[in-house]
Amino acid sequence: MGFKAKARKHKADSGQADQSVVKKTKKEGEIPCGVNTCDRFADKSFGGRSLSIDNAIDVWGDGGYTERKGRVRVCKSCYRKWKKDSKAEDTY
Ligand SMILES: [Zn+2]
Repeated sequence: MGFKAKARKHKADSGQADQSVVKKTKKEGEIPCGVNTCDRFADKSFGGRSLSIDNAIDVWGDGGYTERKGRVRVCKSCYRKWKKDSKAEDTY
């Protein structure tokens, strides 16, 4: 009687390599969304974008966002909102 040795892989077998070193395995970002009413993350891996202050004021108003190094980091959904709003302004 013998046990067959099972070849186990510790790594995921999907073959996709992580681009960056992740400290936590939880799906949490490091950069919070700059919009005050939003609690998502604006990391690049989450599809976050960086807007200028003027752009942020147009949509969220003065004080409705948090500045970060002269830019406003927004999450994916906030960026889409901004894009939609700025488009609407351009087309009238
Ligand atoms: Zn957001």
